[in-house]
Amino acid sequence: MIRFTAEQEEFRRSVARFVDAEVVPQAQAIDERAEFPRELFKRVGELGYLGLRYPEAYGGSGADMVTYCLFAEELARGSLSLAAAAAMQSLMGTYFIYTHGSEVLRQRYLVPALRGDLVATFALTEPNAGSDLAGLTTRAERHGDRWVLRGAKTWVTNAPVADVLTVAAKTSAERGMKSIALFLLDRATMRGITLGKKIDKMSVRASETGEILLDGVEVPADHLLGGETGGVETIGGILSEIRVMTAALSVGLARAAYGAALAYARERHAFGKAIVEHQAIGFKLADMLTALHAATLMTYQAAGAIDAGRPITREAAMTKLFASETAVRVTDEAARIFASYGLASEFPVQRYFRDARFLLPGGGTSEILRLVIGRDLAWDRGEAFA
Ligand SMILES: Cc1cc2nc3c(=O)[nH]c(=O)nc-3n(C[C@H](O)[C@H](O)[C@H](O)COP(=O)(O)OP(=O)(O)OC[C@H]3O[C@@H](n4cnc5c(N)ncnc54)[C@H](O)[C@@H]3O)c2cc1C
Repeated sequence: MIRFTAEQEEFRRSVARFVDAEVVPQAQAIDERAEFPRELFKRVGELGYLGLRYPEAYGGSGADMVTYCLFAEELARGSLSLAAAAAMQSLMGTYFIYTHGSEVLRQRYLVPALRGDLVATFALTEPNAGSDLAGLTTRAERHGDRWVLRGAKTWVTNAPVADVLTVAAKTSAERGMKSIALFLLDRATMRGITLGKKIDKMSVRASETGEILLDGVEVPADHLLGGETGGVETIGGILSEIRVMTAALSVGLARAAYGAALAYARERHAFGKAIVEHQAIGFKLADMLTALHAATLMTYQAAGAIDAGRPITREAAMTKLFASETAVRVTDEAARIFASYGLASEFPVQRYFRDARFLLPGGGTSEILRLVIGRDLAWDRGEAFA
């Protein structure tokens, strides 16, 4: 059983009230418009949710990972698009500014981003390099007190609306990952940053995704976040959090789909009884709830382990793998229970079904996660979780 503190329970209730009152009523419309929901995003900032994981000195609240996951889960229950945009901002988009940026950069970018006044994002993936980071080709060359960046990034969440971007680039031409470094780019003051095409996609449509082209962007030396090498290790420092957060998003979406399917199965009649009373449908719901329960336990156990300072490389990979695959399965079964109505835009089930696919690639595909788990077992780092 998961034991949340009284503060965590109250926090969940307050996020749930916001989600039910302001997010759920708009979720389908923002999905249909496929536009970044600026007003809602701003509300998320005003309510302090973007600053949960940051100290009060920067406008945050220093919350633990369990609390952050409660936020991610509840928001995803209402709109995975909004939750994806908020999660990008509040973890990856601002994290390296906080951990590796100077005080000047923190005041200039972190503080307004945590309020929701600036949109921050993280650009790692390239047209020819996703899982395989050794294949990155974006280059950063040093010219005196500046770095000059050239390359192309793609699949960048919030790219079409981003004000600041943390970009991964190689500081040397050699293959491999060693020379990857992170740079903070400001679209308002740096020339050579062009938005490529916005990607029209079936999943999380209101979380805009796009390409970024870097054509000789001059970046001041103090915008290098961390060392000239070792960017992959810097990213690795937050990877378990990203994976556990993605698991929390998965649980939120799966919960919404399960709840909708159960309500429909109790109400819809066929062959003289509610369809929930047909064993085939009851079995589906039983399997959905069982998987959802397991995913929830794994998510909060992993979040608790992060809060306890335990290394959880393997556990975080297992949690994200199980929870994201559960979200895909549960949303699929939910759509089947709705049958034809599962295809109709008047019901949110079609959106849950489409949105679940987003959870598979982010934070590592299922294949990559199995690789991580398998390698960890081979090396046996002695993680407590057996
Ligand atoms: C909606 C959305 C938002 C995103 N937002 C961001 C963002 O903000 N910033 C960012 O940088 N990226 C973002 N991404 C990109 C995402 O992180 C990558 O898509 C992901 O890392 C996978 O890369 P890829 O799509 O290039 O697949 P590839 O790496 O090309 O993989 C293709 C297939 O091969 C498999 N595969 C690859 N290598 C192996 C191997 N060694 N063994 C077995 N199988 C393997 C994969 O599992 C997959 O099935 C986003 C993606 C989506 C869908």
